[in-house]
Order: sequence, then C-alpha cells, then structure tokens
Amino acid sequence: LVPRLQPFTSTIFAEMTALAVRHEAVNLGQGFPDTDGPAGMLDAAKNALFGGANQYPPGPGRPELRAAIARHRLRYGVEYDPGTEILVTAGATEAIAASLIALTQAGDEVIVIEPYYDSYAAAVAMAGAERRVVGLVERDGRFALDIEGLRAAVTERTRAILINSPHNPTGTVFTRAELEAVAALCVTHDLIAITDEVYEHLVFDDAEHVPLATLPGMRDRTVSISSAGKTFNCTGWKIGWVCASPELVAAVKAAKQFITFVSGGPLQPAVAHALDHELPWAEELRTSLQGKRDRLAAGLAEAGFAVRPTAGTYFICVDVRPLGFDDAAELAWELPERVGVAAVPVKVFTDHPEEWKHLLRFAFCKRNEVIDEAVTRLRKLR
Ligand code: PMP
Ligand code: GLN
Repeated sequence: LVPRLQPFTSTIFAEMTALAVRHEAVNLGQGFPDTDGPAGMLDAAKNALFGGANQYPPGPGRPELRAAIARHRLRYGVEYDPGTEILVTAGATEAIAASLIALTQAGDEVIVIEPYYDSYAAAVAMAGAERRVVGLVERDGRFALDIEGLRAAVTERTRAILINSPHNPTGTVFTRAELEAVAALCVTHDLIAITDEVYEHLVFDDAEHVPLATLPGMRDRTVSISSAGKTFNCTGWKIGWVCASPELVAAVKAAKQFITFVSGGPLQPAVAHALDHELPWAEELRTSLQGKRDRLAAGLAEAGFAVRPTAGTYFICVDVRPLGFDDAAELAWELPERVGVAAVPVKVFTDHPEEWKHLLRFAFCKRNEVIDEAVTRLRKLR
C-alpha cells in the first residue's frame, strides 16, 4: 500500500459493526436505519428491475433522475440544468472522492472541519492533496464553526473547503450566519466549496438546512453533494449526486467515469420517483427521528452521560467523563462485550484525538424498542 493511504486500512464502522456482531450487541455505532424506505420507492425499483432497466445507465445518470434532482434542488431556490449541471454518483462517497480527485492535486490544500466524516481524509489523500484541519468549537451549548480558525487556515495553496451540514458526528446544523462567513472566505480567496448535504432533510426543531450554493457568489464555485440513503432509508443503494456549474460537473465526471463509470441502474428511476413523490414520507421520517433523538438523549442522560445537543443527522454525542471514563475510545472498544452496545468514539474522526477523546457517538436511527434495549443495557455502566 502506498504511504499516503497507509493510515486508511480499515474503517471504524466496519470494525465496530464486526465487534457488535461478535458480541450480539445493539449496534448504535454505524449509522444505518433498521426499517425500509417508502413502499412506492421500493415498488418503483421492483418495476425497474423487472422492466428491463438492468444495463448501463447513461454516464451522467438517468435523465428522469437528473430532472428529479433539479426539481428537488429548486426547492431551495437554486436552479440547475439537468443536462449539464447534475451528475449521478455511487453515493455521496464517490461524489466526494471524485470531486477531490478532479479538483485538487499535490501541492493543494483542502480545508476540512474536524471532527470529519472518515472518508474525507482518505479522499484528500487519494487526490494527493493535503488537508488543513480546523476544529469545531463548543460555544453556546453547540459545536460551532470557528470562523477565525478558518480564516487563519487559508494559505496561497488552499484550493477547496469541505463543508458538511447537517454535521456528522456532532449533529450540528450550521447557521446561515456561519455559512455566510464560509461563503465570504470562498469568494475572497477564490476557493471551491464542496458541500456534503446527505442529512439535508434530517433537521430538527427550528433548525434550517441552508445549502451553501444558495448564498451570494457561491452557486458557481460550489460542488453540492447529497444522496438518497439518509432521506429515504436506503443507505445500501448508494445513489448520490453532484449539482454544480457545467465546468465543475464536467471535471467531477472526468474522474467519476473512470472510478465506477455508472452504478445502480434500476435504483435510479426509483430514487427519481422518491424525490418527486416521497418527500411527505421523508417529512414523517424526520418527525419520527426527532422523537428518537429525544428518546435516546433522555436514556443516555439517565445512564449517566453528559449529552450534547443534536440539531440534525442520525447522531448524538455524549461526554463519557461523568461516568468516570477519560477516553471514549477505550470505552467504545469494551462496550460491546461489557454491556452489549456498540458506539463510535469521536476522536477517530479527528487529527487531534486528545481534544476529542471524551466524546462518544450513538446513532438513533433505530426502532424504539432497539433504542430502549440499548438504554437498558447502558444503565448497567453506573
Ligand atoms: N457523508 C456523510 C456525512 C455521511 O454520514 C455519510 C454516511 N452515510 C456519507 C457521506 C456517505 O453517503 P453515501 O452512503 O451516499 O455514500
Ligand atoms: N455514514 C455512516 C455513519 O457515519 C456509516 C457509513 C459507513 O459505514 N461508511 O455511521
């Protein structure tokens, strides 16, 4: 394995899920739902499978899916031409990797917010670029963007900034003011923004998802990425997409076409159906997840953790110190065997493990009885 990929030989999700299976633990580690998506979407996939949609779809994605993505994006008030400005990918993961490979190279720096979704560091490394990490800061009871830190991280080599909101693993949803500051930085320093918006529909209470591309000066310098997995409970389908200017889409497509070329033929029309007809279902999912967030948060507090607030995503972070632990990773490795629950330590998503070692991430995208069983087991930690 080449040196630049040596830090990335395994993923925490694969490791923790394997450990959970070995100990028959309740798996609140890897974030995936334990119920299916809307029946209409599943029917559409079945119809496509038996309707002959089983060969290569067009390189940029099936036209009806690109049209549905454009309609969906229009909800935020930003218009994309399905012919030249939308690209269907193998999940958001491929979209992120192909964007970095196409747009950054050795000598370039990419600003990444810490803690970061694990694929970002690996994808920046695959591109041959370098990551410049800026940590979120705990302020006013939430994990906030460190605007000063971001400004200080820009150098003449900075090419792009990767922004994930709603944010995995903290559950932060960046405010419009925070995103405006990011936009100002991008415009001033002529940076490309790559946004990971896979949790765009999973925002709670009065939080609002603001796509960075909708802010002044950002539409043509932003690669907006999302996927169907989280919105429609189909994380295994790996249908994602990129919306950007024709130049940026053409660049990402140049990389993407030699990574997977195309994927998910019969799933693409089903996701098109879902984007056009199943957003009311996604709204019910959002409401239900908000209840699950509250259910798990209450249970984790009862179990003795200090629970951090979550405004979006599938995840809650807790501080393990009130229970007498110092390093959440040590706890995470013994938790499946000791009480039969799996969770993920936040420090594995950072370059500064000392600063983040107290936090443990739990996923609440599970049936209520699964959440309750996990809480019952976690109470034994006291
Ligand atoms: N970004 C974030 C922040 C995620 O949590 C995930 C995991 N689902 C992904 C990207 C990957 O999305 P996909 O499954 O569509 O590749
Ligand atoms: N996105 C999911 C999470 O953060 C896991 C995805 C994966 O297993 N790579 O838990």
